[in-house]
Amino acid sequence: MYSEINAPIRTIMTPGPVEAHPRVLRAMGIPILGQFDPAFLKIMDEVKEMIKVPFQTKNEQAFAIDGTSRSGLEAALIGLIEPGDKVLIPAYGRFAYLLGEISERAKADVVYLEKEWDSIFDQSDIIQAIKEHQPKIVALIHGETANGQMQPLEKIGEYCQENDVFFVVDTVATYGGAPVKVDEWGIDIAIAGTQKCVGVPSGMSLITYNERVEKVLTSRYQKELGLSKDFRNERHISSNYLDLSQLQRYWSNERINHHTEATSMIYALHEGLRLMIQEGIENGYERHRVNDEAIQAGIAAMGLKLYGDLETKMPTVTPILIPEGIDGEAVRSMLLNEFGVEIASSFGPLQGKIWRIGNMGFSSRKENVLHVLAAFEAALVFHGAEINRGEGVMAALRVYQEHK
Ligand SMILES: *Cc1c(COP(=O)(O)O)cnc(C)c1O
Repeated sequence: MYSEINAPIRTIMTPGPVEAHPRVLRAMGIPILGQFDPAFLKIMDEVKEMIKVPFQTKNEQAFAIDGTSRSGLEAALIGLIEPGDKVLIPAYGRFAYLLGEISERAKADVVYLEKEWDSIFDQSDIIQAIKEHQPKIVALIHGETANGQMQPLEKIGEYCQENDVFFVVDTVATYGGAPVKVDEWGIDIAIAGTQKCVGVPSGMSLITYNERVEKVLTSRYQKELGLSKDFRNERHISSNYLDLSQLQRYWSNERINHHTEATSMIYALHEGLRLMIQEGIENGYERHRVNDEAIQAGIAAMGLKLYGDLETKMPTVTPILIPEGIDGEAVRSMLLNEFGVEIASSFGPLQGKIWRIGNMGFSSRKENVLHVLAAFEAALVFHGAEINRGEGVMAALRVYQEHK
């Protein structure tokens, strides 16, 4: 016989998934409603409005897509891309290549602007590349989880708006944890997820886009044959499930019959967003910032080095260089097995070179920061790393004292 799941309780300090607030988990147990039940439609309408708050947008279109964050990235890109369209991807880390991969599969002509992963782009270099390559779309990552860097966007956005280029931005790792100003920065489509700074289980993507994008989507709208014969479209979007032109109608008063909404996830998302708004998004940014300061102070006091340009480090991820001669995976295993603490490794050229401590959503709490630093120090000492003993937690405590 199979036994009931008996999951250990963890302190999750990775760049996602992070811990979910108990109220979010409780919301998932609310009884199921039919997807067109007026009681459920009211919840969807509230979710739509609440999604806009951390995006800092007045866009009409904002909703959730079933599927993890990359479903939103894919929906955004395939909604705009038609075969042969040029997409410029400035890449300063792993996730940019995901945008490229999705665009390639949508038969775009993909141009990468590449650099070392230790810092962001100068915005003028990206603008220069737009002038040179004349793409239809520029797609990039706001907060690059793989290396902890955060790209300024406002000048790129302004240039795109003035020159009829679509600006698509992955804000998955920053939404709710650091300012994301969709309207002010000239972003056409922004995409986020649930399991990072929103502190909701993974399984949904959040998206917002402006009228310029809506116009393109509307021109590509095709309704399912079983619903109507009148809406055939040669330029239809290549996916049915991730077709924004249908999804926006599903989430509007038209309520076309598309998929069956993931009721329990919508409940969770409603509660996660409600908690964020109740805290105040500015207060939420400040909480992430102070916890980040404490993590950085603790790591520095131990004598460890951070990876990359600290000026542009995102507040939600801290990449730490693994000291010479230390087995990074052995340290991570000890953290998990002995302390119940999870931190992350990294990808591609950074695999085996850095650890990453996440600082996101409900996991971004003082007690988590102090626990991860204490456990980390002990695990490092156990593995023979030469660090300053007893300094990490002290430095973090001093940061918290200053912010009392
Ligand atoms: C986590 C993450 C993703 C992928 O998210 P999934 O929810 O796993 O699909 C994409 N982009 C960035 C920047 C991320 O941090």
